[in-house]
Amino acid sequence: MAGQAILSARGLTRDFRGFRAVDGVDLDVAPETVHALVGPNGAGKTTLFNLLTGFLPASGGRIELDGRDITGLPPERVARLGVARSFQITSLFPQLSAREHVQLALQSPSGLGWRFWRSATLMRRYRDRADELLAMVDLAELAEAPAEALAYGRKRALELAIALALDPKVLLLDEPTAGMGLEDVDRTVGLIAAVRKGRTVVMVEHNMSVVGRLADTVTVLQAGKVLVEGPYEQVRADERVITAYLGA
Ligand code: ADP
Repeated sequence: MAGQAILSARGLTRDFRGFRAVDGVDLDVAPETVHALVGPNGAGKTTLFNLLTGFLPASGGRIELDGRDITGLPPERVARLGVARSFQITSLFPQLSAREHVQLALQSPSGLGWRFWRSATLMRRYRDRADELLAMVDLAELAEAPAEALAYGRKRALELAIALALDPKVLLLDEPTAGMGLEDVDRTVGLIAAVRKGRTVVMVEHNMSVVGRLADTVTVLQAGKVLVEGPYEQVRADERVITAYLGA
């Protein structure tokens, strides 16, 4: 394994009834970088995400977090060790406020509650930390709003705050700007740029302008394999990438 990677994969493979969706992927995510996974539909990005977070077991290969083998661990163990993913809007509770969502995440065994559960000032801590996280994602003024009252972009920001509640070493974002208008895309890019400080982010993102603005390293997947990897400008100009996207 590469010495300086915080999250890495070697020969990672996943078969679905004989179909190889992820095919021998090697990946090294350097600490405190934004690493984008891109590629045409069906390239294996979601499957790779699910493998890295323990949501799917690998058919072969190995995953390491900070040099520790996490292959085959269940998602809650992987989360507790420091790999958090943003949850989808469908998992928000319509009537709970933004603050309550973040407080719940903080109280989960993989969040702060694990460390401070005996503290007398526990509830205060949860509330203060929840408000800090909500402020970080521009939701301070909507802390009391029920999730169902939040506009789409604000719901996605809440998902980000929930993921940050786990204080992850590596934050995985699944299409953070999907379905957003230009204004929300810009706002989300600003949020990710802010929360990335001191953190490592791996994101699947279709919007190449977003990738160009945020990513230090881009891995292009095609048919389950790594096609090209490198800095954005270099990857964007690569003939193989252009061909993959045009389907030629
Ligand atoms: P991407 O996220 O890049 O669009 P996916 O990881 O969703 O790609 O899918 C990669 C390939 O694996 C696709 O051909 C898809 O049909 C297949 N696949 C994904 N999940 C399953 C599954 N649960 N069962 C069978 N095939 C699957």
